[in-house]
Amino acid sequence: MGSPETRRGIGVSPGTAVGPVVQVAPPVRPPADEPPAVTPEAGADAVRAALESVAVELEARAAKADEHAQQILKATALIARDKGLFKAANKQIIAGRGPAHSIAAAIEEYAAQFEALGGYFAERVTDLRDVGSRAVAAVLGVPAPGVPIFDVPSIIVADDLAPAETATLDRALVVGIITEGGGRTSHTAILAAQMGIPAVVQLEGATAIAEGTTVALDGDSGAVTINPDEELLAQQQVRRERRAQAFGSAHGPGATADGHPVALLANIGGVDDAERAGAQDLEGVGLFRTEFVFLSADRAPTVEEQTDIYRRVFAPFGSRRVVVRTLDAGADKPLAFADLGPEENPALGRRGLRLSAERPDLLDAQLEALGIAARETGADVRVMAPMVATAEEAAWFTRRVRENGLPKAGVMIEVPAAALRSAHVLAEVDFGSLGTNDLAQYTMAADRMQGELSDLLDPWQPAVLDVVAAACHGAQHAGRPVGVCGESAGDPLLALVLVGLGISSLSMAPSKVPAVRVALSMHTLAQCQGLAALARDAWDAGQALEAVRTNARAEFTALL
Ligand code: PEP
Ligand code: MG
Repeated sequence: MGSPETRRGIGVSPGTAVGPVVQVAPPVRPPADEPPAVTPEAGADAVRAALESVAVELEARAAKADEHAQQILKATALIARDKGLFKAANKQIIAGRGPAHSIAAAIEEYAAQFEALGGYFAERVTDLRDVGSRAVAAVLGVPAPGVPIFDVPSIIVADDLAPAETATLDRALVVGIITEGGGRTSHTAILAAQMGIPAVVQLEGATAIAEGTTVALDGDSGAVTINPDEELLAQQQVRRERRAQAFGSAHGPGATADGHPVALLANIGGVDDAERAGAQDLEGVGLFRTEFVFLSADRAPTVEEQTDIYRRVFAPFGSRRVVVRTLDAGADKPLAFADLGPEENPALGRRGLRLSAERPDLLDAQLEALGIAARETGADVRVMAPMVATAEEAAWFTRRVRENGLPKAGVMIEVPAAALRSAHVLAEVDFGSLGTNDLAQYTMAADRMQGELSDLLDPWQPAVLDVVAAACHGAQHAGRPVGVCGESAGDPLLALVLVGLGISSLSMAPSKVPAVRVALSMHTLAQCQGLAALARDAWDAGQALEAVRTNARAEFTALL
């Protein structure tokens, strides 16, 4: 065992974890010197067996996965069983190639066709290549790419994880996640926090850590220690206990030390999340990302199918509020059935509400289902639109929401235009919710999917805080409440700043609620306002964080 070495990435899901490293194997490529198959029959048999073993393995994983992951895994298994794919590979075998190269060539031939077809097919190219990589590994007898099967609680390490990989992780065995790539608002970060698995992203050299090495990670500070010694583990244990005690001692609705209420809400992505969050001490849901339910659906869900899902999502919350976001399809969340064709810049294209405007049938079906489920369960359902830029869009959305008998309409404020014009935009709706993930992306002109731009995407960027302040100012003018549902809401120090800027609710992964509740309970509204002023006065993101850390109550920062 080597000596301890601590490195720092970005903590994106709270909590600490210790365990051996399991590296997620990278894609496998056929060896350059692969000989042709001994006979065409033997080659065909090898290809058939490899593809079949991939299908069987994916189906076995599907059987253990939750409903959402099951759909994704089963759809991928179907690709492995596609007769046309086998035929394409067999043609290569007959042409004298080895089995691994034959599979790889057939996959690329299919990928080119899928890409040319666009839309749904183009989006399946990643799954297709995943099948190819697994089949090549099977034919070569090397470990399959992706998360291997293991039975000791471990920390998994990858360059990044695909959404389907993250969603299918076994919570009992995966005690922590480390990625070398990714970012604060990447799928891995959002899903890990939602699943309550401590996680660190952007850790340099992570994929080079040897398999089986013990590491200790801290999902709050972003610190990862390779070969931690007894002393560090003991310190971590003491800190864990102190935090558990402090965070476990506060209960009930969120409020500042002087009683200013700040609703603490959950971000959820489906029925499983709703059942877990519903059982927790929080005031409802501030963001139900409905598109997460349909990520792998290949046709639009019917009103009946949607009604059934929404009923099961609302039920665990009783009379607590559930804020539902209508489909935010496009860009980082493509939906096969809501695709308007390739675009040069999807994040700036017809996504979110813009897509709903072009496909009102999708929006109407969703609103109808939400209306039925709300009436049947008696839930306090509030519906909001993603990617709203203008007051006109907000008014259009509100009309459609009301037409479906839903009483409360709101908008996400995640485009700087809507933030700057929030007095007019919010006058058209009942409430607003700041999506700081996209607001940071668009304010800083930095793609949120690009881990290398993490510094620009930091929600502590004073420019982002200025835009949030403008949105809060307009909301006050319009007399409408505005909350935050981006990842920044779950950072306890930033939560103080957001409250100081004037937001009235914070929605986050449920695992982040206890720390935020305690942070609020230790600071008055005036103190939050003072911290907000310091953060906005700072020269850059690092100084904004430092100013708040040094001026927040020491009893709280000692827990961080
Ligand atoms: C956001 O943009 O901050 C947000 C909450 O929505 P999403 O992360 O789903 O885009
Ligand atoms: Mg968004």
